Amino acid sequence: MRKKITILVVDDTETNIDILLNLLGDDYDLTVALSGESALEIANTESLDLILLDIMMPQMDGYEVCEILKANDKTKDIPVIFITAKTDEDSIEKAYEVGGIDYVTKPFKPRELTARVKTQLNLKFLIEDLEFIASYDQMTGICNRRKFFELAERKFLTDKNNLYAVMIDIDKFKLINDTHGHPIGDAVIIKVTETISQYLESEFIFGRLGGEEFAIVCNCESLDEITQKLERIRKAVDSFELLSDKNESIKCTISMGCSKIKQETKNLDALLKEADVALYEAKGSGRNKIIFRS
Ligand code: GH3
Ligand code: MG
Ligand code: MG
Repeated sequence: MRKKITILVVDDTETNIDILLNLLGDDYDLTVALSGESALEIANTESLDLILLDIMMPQMDGYEVCEILKANDKTKDIPVIFITAKTDEDSIEKAYEVGGIDYVTKPFKPRELTARVKTQLNLKFLIEDLEFIASYDQMTGICNRRKFFELAERKFLTDKNNLYAVMIDIDKFKLINDTHGHPIGDAVIIKVTETISQYLESEFIFGRLGGEEFAIVCNCESLDEITQKLERIRKAVDSFELLSDKNESIKCTISMGCSKIKQETKNLDALLKEADVALYEAKGSGRNKIIFRS
């Protein structure tokens, strides 16, 4: 169930606000702003699902408010419906140009406004659901490849200091599938994900790149610190045990390759590539180990 839906109503005339409160107040949580400035303040501090925005207001008008909302990462995805007495085509066109998603003229028909609000809210929730599906791995709940690269690229560009990449791969995983079947293989992937997640700090970027392969991008004070963290993860995976329905014990290990950013590291791909070479070395030299390239 979604939390109660919150709509911000922005109008400098209190009677207009009262009409909207009467119309929508039973179905939604309504927050009110009597000026553009106060609307921006509320949008920046509260979690809003929709904004009903008047155009003609003293000081900052609705167009300007909308442009500022759309230029800010935190508020750009809140749909804005303009509600205004202006009916000329230029004004309507401008409302869409500044980022409005719909436009209703005063005096509005109550049921039409309610229907437009509902439509835009449904659209917003649909987009949010699709974004979630496109970003998170359904089986494990962690970032998928696409989201991992999006977040890691951003980190590479903004927070290069002591940046590390780690590639992780479950050892001899095909054998687990072949011996115990695909569903048990899935359970192992989920258990490995949960185990790794337990040891990561919240700002670490962790994703499932595909199959039984994972990656981490993170900042760490020192090679010692990241070694300790990865070693703890390796041991935790090595020591867990799953039971099959026939009560057979299923165990697995992981190999890891780790690289640290250098002066000459051009981009994220280069950093990950180094980690991948290290992982390959770990696989070639016995598995269940961590190899560093610094
Ligand atoms: P290595 O130690 O060299 O990594 O050997 P491996 O057997 O783990 O590697 P290999 O790449 O040969 O096999 C990986 C297997 O993972 C093959 C593929 O069928 C299986 N696999 C990929 N995705 C999934 C999945 O989502 N669920 C399950 N159960 N198996 C998967
Ligand atoms: Mg007004
Ligand atoms: Mg493998």
